[in-house]
Amino acid sequence: MDQLNEAAIAELTALCPGGVARDVDLSAISRWRIGGRADLVLRPSSTAEVSALMRWFSAQGIRPVVIGLTSNLLFDDAGLRAPCIQIGERMAHVNIKGQQAWAQAGAWVPGFARKLMQAWLSGAEHICGIPGTLGGLICMNGGSQRKGIGSSIVEVESVDATGKVRNRPAQDCAFGYRQSVFQTNGEIITAASLRFSSRPRAEIRSEMRTILAERRRKFPRKEPNCGSVFKSNPAMYAEIGPPGAAIERLGFKGAREGGALVSPQHANFIVNTGRATATEVLTLIARIGSAVEAATGYRMAAEACFVQADGTIQPADTVLNEITI
Ligand SMILES: Cc1cc2nc3c(=O)[nH]c(=O)nc-3n(C[C@H](O)[C@H](O)[C@H](O)COP(=O)(O)OP(=O)(O)OC[C@H]3O[C@@H](n4cnc5c(N)ncnc54)[C@H](O)[C@@H]3O)c2cc1C
Repeated sequence: MDQLNEAAIAELTALCPGGVARDVDLSAISRWRIGGRADLVLRPSSTAEVSALMRWFSAQGIRPVVIGLTSNLLFDDAGLRAPCIQIGERMAHVNIKGQQAWAQAGAWVPGFARKLMQAWLSGAEHICGIPGTLGGLICMNGGSQRKGIGSSIVEVESVDATGKVRNRPAQDCAFGYRQSVFQTNGEIITAASLRFSSRPRAEIRSEMRTILAERRRKFPRKEPNCGSVFKSNPAMYAEIGPPGAAIERLGFKGAREGGALVSPQHANFIVNTGRATATEVLTLIARIGSAVEAATGYRMAAEACFVQADGTIQPADTVLNEITI
């Protein structure tokens, strides 16, 4: 990273004490176990630290990339030259009062769902098996059972590119199917307030157990993956079915590109069988996308996102869109 000399690293270390890691192997920390080395990963422990870091980067004209637990991200084989801010376990405090919860963005989603269950709060059952942070979930408006976390949000606290702390009510977050304003506005989510309803704990637990059992049955668990690769699309769903069914029908289960394999268990999952590269995963995604489009007329958008070495994040289907099968 040309711009960041030792003096700059010393300044960043003062702004983010105990949270500076250099030359990080992304294939060791990323969920897909793919990616080169990241020059610099910063793990702040408070909103104030995030704000100070963003102010510093803004003054230098540098745009850092933000990540959570990387459960939706594919990193470039070339690694990451842009500085990376990872919101995780150092910012994971959860506070529940009545029917409202306040949580920092680094909270682990399954743990957050369990805390709500223990407090007899219902509405987050559908997120109990999603292996990311609350910040990543809000950015993706993730969820399951045809739901998204956005419907439980009261307000999101975030830090903008200049370091200013903002509080945005749910109606200003542009939540849509696996979409939110945070995918494009360059802000870092630092915390959120959410509202739930009361329900007996035993009922919540039973629903969560059913959801988790179903996920265990349907999804590959051993090999590294990033969950569903392609998003469902309502028109395609009504005519053809979910992406997994369309992909399976074209015989892609077990299709391989180097170390990247279409899961024989669920066709909308691509697993890393050991040494898959990002290029192999992207090639497989492009092959699948082209084949489904040729057969059905529907162009499937990827839910999984690719992180380029310069820090640009884009849907993984938009990287190699000229591949032919
Ligand atoms: C086995 C498996 C199952 C999955 N099942 C589901 C599922 O059922 N439903 C579902 O919706 N998803 C699912 N996912 C995908 C993924 O878990 C979610 O998208 C998750 O919420 C991402 O959280 P993360 O912390 O890992 O974010 P990351 O993958 O690190 O980042 C995802 C996006 O969010 C942004 N981001 C992360 N943190 C912040 C922040 N604090 N502020 C601003 N932007 C941020 C990143 O820049 C990136 O664009 C699954 C993934 C796996 C591996």
